[in-house]
Amino acid sequence: MAAKHCLMVGAGLSGAVIGRALAETGHRIDVIDARAHVAGNCHTERDAETGVMVHVYGPHIFHTDDAEVWAYVNRFMPFRPFVNRVKATTGGAVYSLPVNLHTINQFFGRTLRPDEARAFIEARADLSIADPQSFEEQALRFVGPELYAAFFKGYTTKQWGCSPRDLPASILKRLPVRFSYDDNYFSHRFQGMPEGGYTAMVESILDHPNIAVTLGHEVRREDAAGYDHVFYSGPLDGWFGHDLGRLGYRTLDFERFTANGDWQGCAVMNYCDETVPYTRITEHKHFSPWETHEASVLYREYSRACGPEDIPYYPIRLIDEKELLRRYIARAGAERGVTFVGRLGTYRYLDMDVTIREALDCAQRALGAWERGDPL
Ligand code: UDP
Repeated sequence: MAAKHCLMVGAGLSGAVIGRALAETGHRIDVIDARAHVAGNCHTERDAETGVMVHVYGPHIFHTDDAEVWAYVNRFMPFRPFVNRVKATTGGAVYSLPVNLHTINQFFGRTLRPDEARAFIEARADLSIADPQSFEEQALRFVGPELYAAFFKGYTTKQWGCSPRDLPASILKRLPVRFSYDDNYFSHRFQGMPEGGYTAMVESILDHPNIAVTLGHEVRREDAAGYDHVFYSGPLDGWFGHDLGRLGYRTLDFERFTANGDWQGCAVMNYCDETVPYTRITEHKHFSPWETHEASVLYREYSRACGPEDIPYYPIRLIDEKELLRRYIARAGAERGVTFVGRLGTYRYLDMDVTIREALDCAQRALGAWERGDPL
C-alpha cells in the first residue's frame, strides 16, 4: 500500500493519537492547530509566578478501566498516583462528592449503615419516573428532591445555563451515588496525573519523524486539497460553516488568584448554591502532590454560553437540539474524504480515556480500509 499523506485538524488527544498510529505505520501526517500549543483543552503549563503546573482549561483527571489505554498514556509519560476527592460547598456546609454514605449521613444528620441509607434514599426517590429522560428526572428518581436541590440543581443550572429539565439524563449518569464511604470521584481501576503534564505527554505522542506539527494556523476547507484524507477534530458544525445553525456549547472563564500555603485544602471545591456565581475553584498544586510549592495558584471557574470567538468546552446536547445534531451527523457521514473525531468533531461529552480509545480504534479502521483498498 502506498503511504498516505493526511491532514489532521487539531493537535488534541484525538489528533495526536490518530496521527501517531498512522505515522508508525509509515504514513505522513500534517497536524495543524489554531492554538499556540498542543493538547487542546487538557493543555497544562507552569504558572509563571508560582511555578505550579496548571490545568489551563480547567481540571483534567485521567481515569480509565481500559488497560490498553492506561498502558498507552504511560508509554509517553509516566503517571503518578492521584485520586480525585471532590468537596462541595452548599447551604453553608462542606460535603464530600460524589454523594456517598458520608454525604448522606452528614446532610440528613443520621448515622445510617449502607443498607439503611439505600432504603432511606429510595423512600425519597420518585419511583413513578420509570425511564428518566431529563437530568432532573434522573436526579429525582435516584437521589430524591433534597439532595437534588442541594448538590445538583444550582450547580447544573450554572454549568449549563438552562434548566436541568432541558438537559439529558446522561449528564447525571456520569456521577455515581455510593452507599459506602468511598469518596473517590471515579470508579475506574486506573487513575493518575501525568508527571510532566498533559502537554508534555501529547508532545511526546506527536514526536515522530512522519508527523509535522503546525501551531497557530486556522485550517480552512481549502487547506484539505491535495491530501489523501482529512481527520477533523474541530467543532462538527464549524466544518460546514454552521450553515444549518449553531450547535450549542458552553465556554468557561477562569479568574486566577494566588495565595500562600494551602488555600482550600483540596484540588477541586464545587460551589453548588445558585447564588454563588462560579461553579468551582481549582487549587492546581494539589494535582501534583509529589511537588512542593509554598505559593499556590487557584482558578475560579465560571460557565457561560459560547460565542463565535470563544473556545468551545462542553457540547450542550439540549433535548430539543437533537434534530439539528442529527442533520449535522448525517452530513458528516456523507462527507467523502473526511473523518470526524473527538469531543468537538462528534459533539459529545467525552472523557480523555474514551477519546484515546476511540482515536486508537479510528486509526485501526483507517489502516484496515486502506489495506483493503476500501473508501474511508
Ligand atoms: N454536577 C452537579 N453538582 C456537582 C457536580 C456535578 O450538579 O457538584 C452535575 C453537573 O451538571 C455536571 C455533571 O454533574 O455537569 C457532571 O459532573 P462532572 O464532575 O463529571 O463534570 P466535569 O468535571 O466534566 O465538568
